[in-house]
Amino acid sequence: MTDASIPFLDVQGITQLVREDLDLRWKGVLTHGRFIGGPEVETFEARFAEYCESRHCVGVANGTDALELVLAALGIGPGDEVIVPANTFVATVEAVCAVGARPRFVDVEPDTLEIDTDAAAAAVGPRTAAVMAVHMFGQMADVDRLVPLAQRHGLAIVEDAAQAHGARFGGRRAGSVGVAAGFSFYPGKNLGALGDAGAVVSSDEALVARIRQLANHGRASSGRHLHELRGRNSRLDTLQAAVLAVKLRSLDADNDRRRWAMRRYRERLPAGCLPLAEHPRAEPVHHLAVVQVADRAAATAALDAAGIGWGLHYPVPCHRQPAFVEFADEPLPTTELAAQRILSLPMSPTLTVAQIGRVCQVLDQATGPDRRPP
Ligand SMILES: *Cc1c(COP(=O)(O)O)cnc(C)c1O
Repeated sequence: MTDASIPFLDVQGITQLVREDLDLRWKGVLTHGRFIGGPEVETFEARFAEYCESRHCVGVANGTDALELVLAALGIGPGDEVIVPANTFVATVEAVCAVGARPRFVDVEPDTLEIDTDAAAAAVGPRTAAVMAVHMFGQMADVDRLVPLAQRHGLAIVEDAAQAHGARFGGRRAGSVGVAAGFSFYPGKNLGALGDAGAVVSSDEALVARIRQLANHGRASSGRHLHELRGRNSRLDTLQAAVLAVKLRSLDADNDRRRWAMRRYRERLPAGCLPLAEHPRAEPVHHLAVVQVADRAAATAALDAAGIGWGLHYPVPCHRQPAFVEFADEPLPTTELAAQRILSLPMSPTLTVAQIGRVCQVLDQATGPDRRPP
């Protein structure tokens, strides 16, 4: 890469901003030596629950585990169906399959690519137990419509908030709407650890206690050698909790920088690169800067030539993945069409005016003003 290159995501740059603070916290953990279940875990859990405007948080090993543990603790399993938008990262589907339930794929809204409530309503059947409200790309799903649907049918709403730390919809924070929410702190997320990490957030005290127990070998709170549930090991490391507590302090400022960058993209992008729509009640945190282009091959070739990073989220929808074809009940045209057109542009809180200008200039030359997707 040359000096002029623009990374897709500047993980290194983001980490350096808090380097001194991180060094201090790491040393604290090295000194006390409680690498599992140290005081930093409890501190981070309390702060993150508060940040999400929810009551409780349990740190776990990663975001996929967080979703699986929520479903398991709700008692969802074989014989149950869970509604999942086909436009999501495969982890959402993996969590459903891991508890033995059946994913029921539904389509997304054409302008936002978030789960389509009407499609979800049409998919409800006698076996439906829950809806995965996936908040894609940093924008929350339309929970104004999903919550009443779930209430009408007695379904649990499980939020997949892995891409939406700090987002709001109608004033409500991601993580505070469903019965519980799973968060990922994979390094590339808006709140990222220095490795794998995740959390469940919920205001249901009994559910949270059960998840805490399941994630710690089913161990009873009354005794270290008493295992009441068939659990597993999915704990948040003390070192990662220490890192996350530091990075949580700048999450709002980082999200503001992402919003600024997205506004600037909207002003400068050529007509041939159409950013996803924002619902008027949504306050997204722009985990990804997704546009739709008619000729993606031309756009990516030009970006490559200019040393500009890009991504595809996701080129093969979940119901078209070999692992999940047995659950592909019907074609999902909006998801399938979008999969061919979506393109994720560089997005980081460290993005500069000049970098955004350069990305837009390269795309302008590659896509031209007359190549707007119909
Ligand atoms: C990242 C992600 C996950 C999974 O998180 P991991 O921590 O990588 O297990 C789940 N759902 C969505 C939508 C994600 O983007």
